[in-house]
Amino acid sequence: MFDFVSNKVHDEARQGEALLPAETDINLYKKKFYIESYGCQMNFSDSEIVASILNEKGFGATRNYEEADLVFLNTCSIREKAEQTVRSRLHIFRQQKRIRPGMLIGVLGCMAERLKEKFLEEEKLVDMVVGPDAYRTLPLLIEEAEGGQKAVNVLLSREETYADISPVRIDSNGVTAFVSIMRGCNNMCSFCVVPFTRGRERSRDAYSIIKECEGLFENGFKEVTLLGQNVDSYYWNDEQKDETVTFAMLLEKVALINPLLRVRFSTSHPKDISEEVLQTMKKYHNICKYIHLPVQSGSTRILQLMNRTYTREWYMAKINRIREVMPECGISSDIIAGFCTETEEDHQDTLSLMEFSKYDLSYMFFYSERPGTLAARRYKDDVDEETKRRRLAEIVKLQNQISKTSNENDIGKIFEVLIEGDSKRSEEDWRGRSTQNKVVVFSKSGFDFKKGDYAMVKIESCTGGTLIGKAVGE
Ligand code: SAM
Ligand code: SF4
Repeated sequence: MFDFVSNKVHDEARQGEALLPAETDINLYKKKFYIESYGCQMNFSDSEIVASILNEKGFGATRNYEEADLVFLNTCSIREKAEQTVRSRLHIFRQQKRIRPGMLIGVLGCMAERLKEKFLEEEKLVDMVVGPDAYRTLPLLIEEAEGGQKAVNVLLSREETYADISPVRIDSNGVTAFVSIMRGCNNMCSFCVVPFTRGRERSRDAYSIIKECEGLFENGFKEVTLLGQNVDSYYWNDEQKDETVTFAMLLEKVALINPLLRVRFSTSHPKDISEEVLQTMKKYHNICKYIHLPVQSGSTRILQLMNRTYTREWYMAKINRIREVMPECGISSDIIAGFCTETEEDHQDTLSLMEFSKYDLSYMFFYSERPGTLAARRYKDDVDEETKRRRLAEIVKLQNQISKTSNENDIGKIFEVLIEGDSKRSEEDWRGRSTQNKVVVFSKSGFDFKKGDYAMVKIESCTGGTLIGKAVGE
């Protein structure tokens, strides 16, 4: 199976990335851990929580698994391909364990629950299996595993938000950071395994989120992305103060920390993004004008089978409303090709909806049946591989055209760009992003900018995935 992300490399480029030890970390650790992350941004964010818990207990990070005492894989179950990758990595770590039998291997995250018996008992691939809500018990589980026991905790919680744990941002550009605001998901999209692997939705204490964002800003960060599977259903109730915080209210509170701190969020379910959220975005310059609004399919019939709870027309009206409130807003999407019973006509509906929505970017996937999901239980995965492949290729081709046109339309415009670091191609150029989340590259000459500064950049040319410009002001 192949997954595509058009024109921009985003999460896909980070698959399997290992956390880097902090250069400034002067602590002497008794043991070293290595952690490799897969899947969505939530998982990468969770690895930073795990790192914090392990640091507390005297373990330091390494990027070389050959010197690690503990090797963790933070896993994803969203598509079959992600599971296969993890399995092959585990076999490589197993070989290393033959050379160093004292090394412990652990599986964290979404694969934990479903594959615990297989990994621990049947295939004897790992020493520890730890689910996404059980990271606080890691120190105990490590002790058990060191004592030769099989260490497992895959219990899902209705409360755990790790609110009090400060993630260690040991692999960061120092400018942008992800902040988890909720966990789990209560939606039951029929294709999706997340509600089963990450449990019920719960929102994190609003004040712990604000404190974390304030701390990041004090430490030089200039952008936070508020993370959740469905951020618009964020709802936090402080019984003592008789206060309720909705997502729009949270956005405002974070935006008010400092006008120089940009705020982004992901992901929005189209059914939940409210007028209040749109108006709050419009009101604050530092709330980025960018919405990731996954449509999944352009066919109302397929959307119903997917249990997305909106129709094609309803989604189109939402896009129109976003463009009415914020004409300059960037919009991106997730699209699944070849869901159960999808006909050629349904597929054409997806293509035409993409043309209507004019997404700047899309993450595009084959449908991959996941055991235990509603779709796996109710429907037949009846679109053959070749058809899925062809339809996905058509979707990718169209998205590339739309993205290119969107970038061409930006030529001549001036954008405020937050500088994230050197361009990947040349140290003579800066690389940053516009409020619409587009990557902008421009020459360092003429201005004395540094990483974390805002620059006004006039766009002169583009590629499919990058705007290329020239600084015209601070
Ligand atoms: N909560 C977010 C949402 O509702 O859009 C993201 C969930 S998931 C981590 C990211 C994307 O993976 C989904 O939007 C969907 O397009 C894709 N996905 C989920 N399950 C899939 C499956 N079984 N086969 C193919 N793609 C899938
Ligand atoms: Fe999965 Fe749907 Fe929840 Fe997103 S909203 S995590 S696609 S169930």
